[in-house]
Amino acid sequence: MSLLEVDRLESFYGASQALFGVGLDVKEGEVVALMGRNGMGKTTTIRTIFGLIRPRSGTIRFAGREIAGKLPHRIARLGLGLVPEGRRCFPNLTVTENLVAAARNGEWTLQKVVDLFPRLGERRNQYANTLSGGEQQMLAIGRALMTNPRLLVLDEATEGLAPVIRRDIWAAIAKLKAGGQSILVVDKTLSELLAVADRCFVLEKGVTVFEGTPQALTPDLQDRYLGV
Ligand code: ATP
Repeated sequence: MSLLEVDRLESFYGASQALFGVGLDVKEGEVVALMGRNGMGKTTTIRTIFGLIRPRSGTIRFAGREIAGKLPHRIARLGLGLVPEGRRCFPNLTVTENLVAAARNGEWTLQKVVDLFPRLGERRNQYANTLSGGEQQMLAIGRALMTNPRLLVLDEATEGLAPVIRRDIWAAIAKLKAGGQSILVVDKTLSELLAVADRCFVLEKGVTVFEGTPQALTPDLQDRYLGV
């Protein structure tokens, strides 16, 4: 059984339809890449999964339960952890305070997050708004992990970050994968994304047009769907 199963999802912004039939699934322990050019519906799909947009139709099952249309905090409590685009943290709380504020019971603790991202340990008493973009992204991932999610979802995992920081983020994602964490990830850096993903889904104009392994996403298909 899949941990997350999205089927025929349709979502709107007001009268304007953004998703026309998105399907995807993530199995326990898998890393799944959600791909597509700009504006194809990746963020809208994630926002709909997390209850931030109410779907017009379709189903979203998480751990066997229908969650479409449920309130965001209830969905999060079922074990979905979001690292949103723009890495939102509490700007006037310290690193430690941000992490502790997110904590829920489970294997992830402050120490484990600091082990994964030593820079956060070095900055533990700094306010979040004084961190670099890369450090804020580490903090956003750390916050999501502190909720001990069954599924971690990263929207634009490394966007706008310096190459050296990107490397750290991809290394952390690989470590999480090795530890059995289920992950759904959106990013524009194809090589790293395809290297870590077990399977990929590609969206085009709000519809899933490809599902398969990174190997099956041949250069031809990459060119057709992702314009690279
Ligand atoms: P990107 O890679 O640029 O973030 P995306 O694949 O995440 O793109 P979405 O942000 O989900 O794409 O956008 C899907 C469609 O919905 C686009 O046509 C976009 O213009 C539209 N859209 C997104 N946000 C809004 C909004 N707040 N109001 C109206 N339309 C929106």
